[in-house]
Amino acid sequence: MEPLAKNQTWIEVDLPRQIRVSTGSAIVLGLLEGRLSAEPTTAYLMTYKAGKCTANCGFCPQARNSRSKVELLSRVSWPIFPTSIVLKKLGTTERDKIRRVCIQALNYPNVFEHLTALVTAIRHHTEVPISVSCQPLNSENMRRLAEAGAERIGIALDAANEKLFSEVKGEKANGPYTWENQLKQLSEAVKVFGRGKVSTHIIIGLGETENDAVSLIQRCVDMYVSPALFAFTPIRGTALEKKPQPFVESYRRTQLARYLIVNGRSRSEYMRFDDLGCLTDYGVEKETLAWIVEAGTPFLTSGCPNCNRPFYNEKPSGPIYNYPRKIRQEEIAEIKQQLGLKPNL
Ligand code: SF4
Repeated sequence: MEPLAKNQTWIEVDLPRQIRVSTGSAIVLGLLEGRLSAEPTTAYLMTYKAGKCTANCGFCPQARNSRSKVELLSRVSWPIFPTSIVLKKLGTTERDKIRRVCIQALNYPNVFEHLTALVTAIRHHTEVPISVSCQPLNSENMRRLAEAGAERIGIALDAANEKLFSEVKGEKANGPYTWENQLKQLSEAVKVFGRGKVSTHIIIGLGETENDAVSLIQRCVDMYVSPALFAFTPIRGTALEKKPQPFVESYRRTQLARYLIVNGRSRSEYMRFDDLGCLTDYGVEKETLAWIVEAGTPFLTSGCPNCNRPFYNEKPSGPIYNYPRKIRQEEIAEIKQQLGLKPNL
C-alpha cells in the first residue's frame, strides 16, 4: 500500500478518482443536461473499474463474459464522472430532490476499500441516507461500512430459488456466489444494520413460478430483509439476451402479494396457486384487496425508502412494471384489468 502523502488521509488514498452515475441521477445532480419523464429520488452511483465485473450474472451487462456496452446496468446508461465533482454536486443538491444515495458495487479485488472510502466521502458532503448494493461481505466489513456511514445494505439474491440462482449467477454460470452463503450473509447483515435496514433484489421472469417468488418474499420478510422487485430485462450481449420480459399480469400479481406480505396483511401460506404456480388467491378479503389496489401503492417501485429506479426495467412508453411516481387513475384502471379485477371492484 502506498505511503500517505503529507496531509493525505487513507480515505483519499482509497477514494476512486472516477465513478459511474446513472443518466437520470446525473441530470438531477446537474452533471448532465436533459429532460426526464420521471426523476430519480435516489442518486444511483456505481463503482468504476476498467473492464467488467469478476462475477458473471447472466442478466447483467457488467458480467465478466457479457459483450454488452460497458456503460450499461440493466437498460440504463451510467456515464463516468470525476468522483470529486460528483461529491460536490451531492453536497449542493436540494434534499427534496435527492433523498438517498445508492452505490452499486461491481465485484473486483479492492472494491471494499473503494466502497468504504466512497461512503465516508459522501457522508462528509451530504446528510442523505446511503445504501450500498454489493456482493456478500463478511460481518467485519459490513460493520466497517456501517461505521463509515452506510444506513442500509442490499445483497441481491436475484433468483427466486436455489436452482435458478446456480444457473443465473452461481456455479452453473461460473459465478462466485452460492445460494446458501447469500442467505447467510443477509441474516448477518440484519445483525449489523438492524431489522428492516437490509434489502435484497428479486428478479421476476428468470424462470421461477409466482409461488417460488412469493415463498421467497415471505422468507425474506421473516428474516427482516426487505425484498425489492425487479422485472427481468433482456440486454443485448448478456447470456440471457434472448429471454422475454415477464408477463405484466404475472408481475402485478407478484407485486400485490409482496405488498400484502411486507405490510403484514397476508402470508404466503394463506395464498393459493394454480397448477402452474400462478396466484389465484391472496388470502385477504375482497374489500381489503379492492382498496389496496385502488391506492396503487403495491405497484410502485419497491426497495429502500425513496428508491424509485425510473425506467430501470422498462421504456417510459411502457408497459410499466415498477411505477417510479404516483400512479394516475387511468393507470389504476389498467392495473385492475391486468389483475383480472372488475373496474368497479
Ligand atoms: S433497493 Fe434501491 S436503493 Fe436499495 S440497494 Fe437496491 S437499488 Fe439500492
